[in-house]
Amino acid sequence: MNPYELIDKLRERHLLSEEEFITLIACHEQKKIRDYACSAAREVQKKYYGNKVYIRGLIEFTNYCKNDCFYCGIRAGNASALRYRLTKEEILQCCEQGYGLGFRTFVLQGGEDPYYSDEKIVDIVQTIRAKYPDCAITLSIGEKSYESYLAYYRAGADRYLLRHETADYAHYQKLHPPALQWKVREKCLYDLKKIGYQVGSGFMVGSPYQSARSLAADMKFLHLLAPHMVGIGPFISHRDTPFAGYENGTFQLTVFMIALVRLMLPNALIPSTTALGTIFSDGREQAIVCGANVIMPNLSPVDVRAKYALYDNKLHSGKEAAEHKALLEESMKAIGYEIVVDRGDCKKI
Ligand code: SAM
Repeated sequence: MNPYELIDKLRERHLLSEEEFITLIACHEQKKIRDYACSAAREVQKKYYGNKVYIRGLIEFTNYCKNDCFYCGIRAGNASALRYRLTKEEILQCCEQGYGLGFRTFVLQGGEDPYYSDEKIVDIVQTIRAKYPDCAITLSIGEKSYESYLAYYRAGADRYLLRHETADYAHYQKLHPPALQWKVREKCLYDLKKIGYQVGSGFMVGSPYQSARSLAADMKFLHLLAPHMVGIGPFISHRDTPFAGYENGTFQLTVFMIALVRLMLPNALIPSTTALGTIFSDGREQAIVCGANVIMPNLSPVDVRAKYALYDNKLHSGKEAAEHKALLEESMKAIGYEIVVDRGDCKKI
């Protein structure tokens, strides 16, 4: 089959074989093929979500992390990182500001920071839940036990973001130290689903040692897991990590993968990521017209934003900043989309 037929097949059957994915991914540098995939993805996105773009208020509440992922700027081994933690009161202030701005989802993201015990997380989640019953609470705090995930869920968290990063096991071990194992990551994702969370997974595009076969494995894994949300962003190197100076993922391949995921998981919530906006000036808008339908502006206190430096030059001002929502609204309007005040749950197929 030629690449156009493969795109049609993915749209109709929501799956390709590994070899077919590899063939298709290898064509991503051809603009005509990218355009074809993007316009098919856009049609599918419009069928489920119209021209609506959902927003989430992202609260990056700690950049302490016990892990040492080779790609990440807040890894434990980065002695140059300026560390911070937000208090419960500061987190609640972020929610209050966000609610006033029209956010109905709060995403609490952080490094794996043992300072925030299960009791602390449960307390924070319960307080937000009681104050904002109409909002979704999303956690993104890494690998935990089944019992911990269950406790957060019972406290009122409804969604959990944990990217699988790469579903190619050998590749996973090239991105992480031995303490981090693919099998654990996989179990966490299935535990989260079993508990009843709306689950977000996803991967970096162009991370060191990634091949078209790794990306095909990502597609297969996502098909099996069937998450509600899929976060896809380019790898961007950070100067104080073992991957300093490695080439960044490309904008072209990232939007192509977004389009393919939209065709495979038609009703998924797919963020147009900050990393995409960082490597390409109108990257966020381009991703929306290729099938993404979520934007996560930064709701953290302004003075800590620069410290949550996962990669070099990470954007945190202008359209990335929650308080400049009007700029974001304008940029979405210019491409025919509309930001809505809504929890933005996953539509049923
Ligand atoms: N600790 C939580 C976890 O592991 O899921 C949430 C925080 S973690 C820093 C959030 C995401 O940042 C990761 O899933 C990874 O994909 C992304 N990230 C980290 N370093 C990156 C880099 N250099 N380039 C692009 N994305 C990166």
